[in-house]
Amino acid sequence: MSKVMIIGAGGVGGVVAHKCAQLPEVFSEIVLASRTEARCKAIAEQLPRPVKTLQVDADNVDELSAVLKAEQPELVINVALPYQDLSIMDACLNAGVHYLDTANYEPPETAKFEYHWQWAYHDRFVEAGLTALLGSGFDPGATNMFTAYLAKHYFDEIEELDIIDVNGGDHGYPFATNFNPEINIREVSAECRHWEDGEFVTTPAMSKMARFECPENVGSYNIYRMYHEELESLSKHFPSLKRAQFWMSFGDSYLKHLEVLENVGMTGIEPVEYEGQQIVPIQFLAKLLPDPSTLGPRTKGKTCIGTIVRGRKDGQEKVMYLYNICDHQECYEEVKSQAISYTTGVPAMIGAKMILEGHWKRPGVWNMEQCDPDPFMADMNRYGLPWQVVELDPNFRLDVQKGQE
Ligand code: NDP
Repeated sequence: MSKVMIIGAGGVGGVVAHKCAQLPEVFSEIVLASRTEARCKAIAEQLPRPVKTLQVDADNVDELSAVLKAEQPELVINVALPYQDLSIMDACLNAGVHYLDTANYEPPETAKFEYHWQWAYHDRFVEAGLTALLGSGFDPGATNMFTAYLAKHYFDEIEELDIIDVNGGDHGYPFATNFNPEINIREVSAECRHWEDGEFVTTPAMSKMARFECPENVGSYNIYRMYHEELESLSKHFPSLKRAQFWMSFGDSYLKHLEVLENVGMTGIEPVEYEGQQIVPIQFLAKLLPDPSTLGPRTKGKTCIGTIVRGRKDGQEKVMYLYNICDHQECYEEVKSQAISYTTGVPAMIGAKMILEGHWKRPGVWNMEQCDPDPFMADMNRYGLPWQVVELDPNFRLDVQKGQE
């Protein structure tokens, strides 16, 4: 029985609030705090039991520390933006509160997806006797767990990893992002990096493409290799990996719009002066695009996100695929959200449950794969994200169609 504070009342914050509210035996008290309290209140009205709402600026360490000291939650679930990670970690240390997030810290002025800023907090969390769990969403999050679960139960050593994120959903807009537009566009327009023979190799964005047939009739999609933050922690914590790649599906309309927006400078993160005002192009663009938390009622179709791992067991080469399929409309019926926020919010709730129930309560700053995957994977099946594991032919290779090496 614990009190939690959820920070952030966007698409993901709404799902986390719904899922925590469904489990009063774990989350006995919930505070939903964000920059705009009206959004917290709008979510609170949808929930099956009362939650307290608060206005807080999570960039302001002193203000947030005071709020945490007054409210005394056991854990903060940070589903604000990656820019707030460090200030929220500082406030948690000041107030003696455990910490969880779903995306690694990004400095606003450079699109860098690196863990070192947050890993540098490890000793301070150890000294404070507090747990910080990083990246407890779907990717990162569930994908780290899928990899750890396969490594634990099916292999002596893992050698190759392909994380494949397919969103077969259609929201009917020519261009919209499924989570925060600014964060999403920074991520997909960044150069690609993948892990190969002990180092990260950089290639141009979207330069390698494969065709992937999803299981269970979800369909066949073009998937593009890109950098994703879990590659950094997984290649560190599984040093036997010779190659690790991340792939995401994109439709032609999304790619066409992105290319044009990039070409005209609308995805830039440097401020430009316009009529005496400093404007960051990507932030202006984000204002014009549909709010991801409003996509729920119009998004139809399924996501299929999983990991393909190649490795050895008893000297034999083996390939396993572990995946979850999630239906956008079913998510909307349950928590008034599309599947991207749902697949992020459910693992955030489960990660919080792992800490509060003591399975993963361990002073320090941890990535998901440093924790035992078994209780987490059991809860994925119980709380809305059931998964399947299948063995593939040892000769299986992704059907690469562009950017052959
Ligand atoms: P949204 O933009 O919909 O929501 C972000 C929320 O954070 C908003 O309510 C916003 O307030 C609030 N916020 C922003 N700045 C502050 C601040 N300084 N103080 C307090 N609150 C603040 O984003 P999403 O819900 O789509 O994403 C939330 C997080 O989840 C992001 O970090 C994203 O990167 C991560 N994510 C992770 C995924 C994974 O699989 N691991 C997948 C998808 C997302 P306001 O309402 O005023 O704008």
